[in-house]
Amino acid sequence: MPSSNGSGEVRNHLTVAEARAAILDTLTPVTGWERVAVRAALGRVLAEDVVAPYNVPAHDNSAMDGYAVRAADLAAGEVTLAVVGTAYAGHPFSGAVGAGQAVRIMTGAAIPAGADTIVVQEVTQRDGDQVRIPPGQRAGQNLRRAGEDLAAGGVALACGTLCGPAELGLIASLGIAEVAVRRRLRVAFFSTGDEIASIGRPLSPGEVYDSNRYTLYSALTRLGCELLDMGVIEDQPEALEAAFRAASQAADVVITSGGVSVGEADFIRQMMDRLGEVAFWKLAIKPGRPMAYGRIGNACLFGLPGNPVAVMVTYYQFVRDALLALMGVSPLPENLMFEARSTAALRKQPGRREFLRGTLQRQADGLTVTPAGAQGSGILRSMSEANCFIVLPEDNAGVAAGDLVLVQPFDGLV
Ligand code: AMP
Ligand code: MG
Repeated sequence: MPSSNGSGEVRNHLTVAEARAAILDTLTPVTGWERVAVRAALGRVLAEDVVAPYNVPAHDNSAMDGYAVRAADLAAGEVTLAVVGTAYAGHPFSGAVGAGQAVRIMTGAAIPAGADTIVVQEVTQRDGDQVRIPPGQRAGQNLRRAGEDLAAGGVALACGTLCGPAELGLIASLGIAEVAVRRRLRVAFFSTGDEIASIGRPLSPGEVYDSNRYTLYSALTRLGCELLDMGVIEDQPEALEAAFRAASQAADVVITSGGVSVGEADFIRQMMDRLGEVAFWKLAIKPGRPMAYGRIGNACLFGLPGNPVAVMVTYYQFVRDALLALMGVSPLPENLMFEARSTAALRKQPGRREFLRGTLQRQADGLTVTPAGAQGSGILRSMSEANCFIVLPEDNAGVAAGDLVLVQPFDGLV
């Protein structure tokens, strides 16, 4: 937990990595859980291991349509075997395959007793009750072994797994109808600023419509959080204090935007010092330099900057993983970045990490990335046009066209 010093001092130039580590260090997952039907587990986090009650697949079975044979019968030359029956998926052959015999078998059908090898149909020649098998077969080929996907008693999915399509399918493949998942995270959020207007009424001079509550609503909904949208709060101490108190009592996490830049921050900072333990960080990041982080009561607080792009950058670089950690996701998803050739020169001062918005494309000679429109921190259209962040690390001192840069794709992130 960042300690509050009460003096309004701003901790300067924390790097992105330092701030992320400091945040993640303070977090423990919610403990509540519930048992839900498999389909309701989509997007939820497992609260206990899912253990395989039996082998998957349950029996050795054929990976191909063909003939089940005994490897010992196969010779250096062609052999002819007697076809004594058929095994279908769900309708096993009840007899055994004896010496010199074969059973016609379909994909997924249990391997009949006596057989140990599958010869694919395409290479065989059928003639009445006889089948000719060419040379060159390998003992044990084209078989799926019982338990090769999951062995009975093994951990199929670990506690802390975030359930997606593969996980739901895997749970169903075990015949399990309900799983234990952590309770949803409750997140309260509001915008601050006298100039911020909610949609649905005309703008007065000097006002701007609130967009941050809509980006945050969307991002939080995608994470499956329970939301408490508290609207726009004016820059007025009593109103802000009441909002912080209500939010921190109702939610696990409070996210605000605006009011943390120099000039505005002072009274918010004093108030937060009084209400909880909150640090103001001046981060070595662009956009999104000022940010407040800490705790009010039992709730975790993120005071994000006001500029719409800065809100999204700080949300994706700090808040999202913190929310995943609180949801109980473990381990946190890998932050996958790629190298791409920048089609444009990019100006950059060393010392801070910059997140530009870019368009990543696959060209014949590899990945390229192009900055997506104007890069001002208030220009939300750049986020909409882009499909990745261009990540310029602290020590980067500018990019020439053709240089390799790091990109973080939005796909899977936003
Ligand atoms: P602040 O951090 O409060 O100084 O705000 C920085 C800039 O972001 C100002 O231009 C604000 O008008 C703008 N801004 C703050 N909050 C919002 C919001 N919720 N929606 C759109 N713009 C905002
Ligand atoms: Mg403001």
